[in-house]
Order: sequence, then structure tokens, then C-alpha cells
Amino acid sequence: VSARADALAAKVAERELDALLVADPFNVRWLSGFTGTNGLALVGPDVRVFLTDFRYIERAADELDASFERRRGERDLLADVAPALPDRRPLRLGFDDAHTSVRTHRKLDELVGDEIELVAAGGVVEELRAVKDAGELHRIRDAARIADEALRETLAAGLAGRTERAVARALENAMRDRDAQPSFPSIVAAGAHGALPHAEPRDVEIPAGTLVVIDFGAQREGYCSDCTRTLATGALDGEAGDVYDLVLRAQRAGLEAVRPGPAGREVDAVAREVIEAAGHGEAFGHGLGHGVGLEVHEAPTLSKKADQHLAAGNVVTVEPGVYLSGRFGVRIEDLVVVTDDGPEILSSMAKELTVVD
Ligand code: ZN
Ligand code: ZN
Repeated sequence: VSARADALAAKVAERELDALLVADPFNVRWLSGFTGTNGLALVGPDVRVFLTDFRYIERAADELDASFERRRGERDLLADVAPALPDRRPLRLGFDDAHTSVRTHRKLDELVGDEIELVAAGGVVEELRAVKDAGELHRIRDAARIADEALRETLAAGLAGRTERAVARALENAMRDRDAQPSFPSIVAAGAHGALPHAEPRDVEIPAGTLVVIDFGAQREGYCSDCTRTLATGALDGEAGDVYDLVLRAQRAGLEAVRPGPAGREVDAVAREVIEAAGHGEAFGHGLGHGVGLEVHEAPTLSKKADQHLAAGNVVTVEPGVYLSGRFGVRIEDLVVVTDDGPEILSSMAKELTVVD
């Protein structure tokens, strides 16, 4: 973990900052190892300070990377920021403008005084977090494996005749049985309900002869997985099968475009063109994918406007969908590691249309 603080300190120096205030809990965890909810880190070329209050001081002693000087502050840690910084003044302190409220910014500005300049520097830690190290990849692979095992176990009891909510609950319990947590509330959406990309499971029985979208993920040692499969509960009418094949073709095209180099929007375009060419462009109303790590949605993004370029070590989803309002939806999502040798697909469930009675 020390290497992370070193990499961040280099970024801070590049931006001509004396230090960066890291407050977002996911960023703090990635940087320092601390898993509590009230911790702040200050990182710069000559500063590695971690602040927490009395409730977490022992946890910090266990978890914190040794390169950090541990300090105990008040519950409101902002008051302890200025005294923890190097002595020289004036001093430029970066803060995460993407995660800081106007109110917190105003308070911090008052607390640090006139000789410390607050400089907007959001996204610096997130950019580093986007490239996973071997330990992180190991945890994400574990999470993906557990999630797939949990789905297989759940599907063994069938789909038709169970309620969406019962299937979602069984799936999440199967993750907990494997010492994992759901990384987000599972989506189980049958028939027309599947046309809502963010459908919540209902107390409604899943009928035979329909499509069911199941979007699910596990979290293991802090790291998430994310996968979607669309399954059939019996023979389908013609168009549902055609749309399924279309989404699968788009998904495979998107996967082939995943490699170091292209911008997120370029990868998105490869899959989107397949769906547009079939006349369903309007029915694919979200981005192709997103990064996954400590958070289930993080950098980099694959969407129409995403400028960030893919790099080896990124973990992203590839999840095109076609949603036909009032009828059905199809989404197929794999979790993928970007490597120099092409995509390493972590999702192991079959992608050919599978019938589960
Ligand atoms: Zn998903
Ligand atoms: Zn996703």
C-alpha cells in the first residue's frame, strides 16, 4: 500500500500542490488501508499523515499502512488538518471538489486560514484507483467467482413460479453463505419489468415463456463484482430471441474492443454501432460500461462522452442492453480485466440464451 501513497505524492507534486486532503472513505481505504468511516489522509512530497478520532484509533493501529503518521483528532477532523500540514506558509492544499459540499469547503477554508490556499483537485485518487494491482485483482476475481456460484445455486431451483423478490433474496443469501456481501441490491426483472434498466424486484411471480434480467454482484474484502445475465423461462416468441442475439453480438464486439489505448467513448461506440445498425439505437439508453473496484461504479467509464483511455489493469464492465418498453429487456454484462493480451473475462456464466424452467 505504501506504493500507492508514493504514486499519489508524485501526482500531487505534478499539480504543484504541497499536499492533497483525501476524505472520501473509498479513497482513504485504497490509500491507507483504513476501513473505518471517519478518517482523513494528507499526502504530499513531504507529508503522510492520517487523522482519525478516538473511536477508530485502535482500528487504525491495526490497519494503517506504516508509511503514515497516525494522529488523533476531534470527531470533526477538519479542525486538525492545518496543524498536521508542513510548517511552511503559504501552502497549496488540494481538496476533492467532486466530493466536497459547499458548506464543508467554506468551513475548511475558515479553519485553515489565509496562508493555506485550497485548490480543487478532484479525481486524482480515482485515476490511480482505476489501475488495479495484483492483490486487488485477486479480490475482484474472488467476488466474481462467488457471485456466479451463488447464481448457479439460485437457478438450480428454477425461476418460473418464484417471485422476483424471492429469487433476489435467495441469490443474496447464497453470496452470504460464501462469506461475501451483495455489492449492490440485485435486480431480478421478468418480462416487461426487464425493460427498466434499474428495476427493483417485485413480489410478482415470474411467468413461463419470458425473459428475466438478473443483474448481481458480490463484494469480498471490500472489492466488488458486477454481472448481468438475461435468461429465458421457456420458449420465446420470435423477436425476443432476435433481440437477445443482437445484444450478444454487441456485447462480443464491445469485449473485443477492450484493450489498453482507446478512450471509453471509442469502446462504447463499437458495441453501440451494432445495436444502431439493427435499428435499436434508441433502446440502448445507457453507457456500455463502468469501472469496478472498491466501488461498483468507478473510473474508467465506457460511454458516449467518456474521454479517459483504457489502461492495463483497469477492470470494467461491458453491458449493452436493449429495452423495449412494455415488452421486455435484454442486458448482458461481463466483468473484464484490461490486459496487454486482450480482455480477461471474469464472468463465467454462459452467454448463449439459456432456458431455466
Ligand atoms: Zn450490473
Ligand atoms: Zn454494471
